[in-house]
Amino acid sequence: MGGRAIAQSESDLGFPRIGTPRNTCPPSVLSQMRRHTIAPGETLDSIAEQYDLIPATLLGMNPILRGDRLPVGREILVPPLNGIRITVSTGTTWQDLAEEYNIRADTLFEVNGCQPPSNTAFVPGVNWSPLSEEVETPIAEKRASAFAVYPLPNPVEAIVGYGWVLTPRSSSVVFHSGLDLPAAVGTPVRTVEGGTVAFAGTRNPYGNFVVINHRQGRQTRYAHLERIDVRQGQTVEAGDRIGTVGITGTPDSPQPHLHFEVRSNSDLGWVAENPLAYYETR
Ligand SMILES: [Zn+2]
Repeated sequence: MGGRAIAQSESDLGFPRIGTPRNTCPPSVLSQMRRHTIAPGETLDSIAEQYDLIPATLLGMNPILRGDRLPVGREILVPPLNGIRITVSTGTTWQDLAEEYNIRADTLFEVNGCQPPSNTAFVPGVNWSPLSEEVETPIAEKRASAFAVYPLPNPVEAIVGYGWVLTPRSSSVVFHSGLDLPAAVGTPVRTVEGGTVAFAGTRNPYGNFVVINHRQGRQTRYAHLERIDVRQGQTVEAGDRIGTVGITGTPDSPQPHLHFEVRSNSDLGWVAENPLAYYETR
């Protein structure tokens, strides 16, 4: 789960608002815990399955589940994501925890409500293990293969990266949910994978904007386009031209670029992922 971050859903398509950090940060995972009362006949596996979690997540969060039989009638806490709750000692930074758990500091920052660490924190994508409270193994990425196609004719270095960044435009720290890939206005933009066009039109701050839904609950987004060459509902193949680079909407940097996002569908809406992860693992 490394490199994932969560963006707040604001609409059916889940566009984060750019420029106001408070609006781009979802409530912390620990504040979104649900309560489940154990019913007769339920098992650890059946409860986990009901919430689309792995059993280890529930075991880590609820010591009363670690006995031989489930205590019927008792309440347990159910987090919205797989992961563990940890106790944080005073003075520990997200960077310290990031190194300890092998996860990005900005991801920890975001799933914990964009605040400095307090007494307890949620670490997503890590398994609770019965051997020791300190031993965890990362949950295998469900992600499929890397993208075969790059959205621009040639790979380029991003001028604004993914995650919490200081934007050139606003000089404030905002969550940047994609990569800003520099390219001249008019450069063709291609879909990185086949799928269906979920949105093709104008939507600020993205300007002329294309959203494509792919298999396995994945989605890619292409913003600030000059021209759009596809229409909503259309089927596209990997490498199909969907438009051209432009400067429409409110780009995060003044230099012409493609704002490119990768998201995957989850209970929390469309979760932004680091697009680089889809190209480095090839
Ligand atoms: Zn951008």
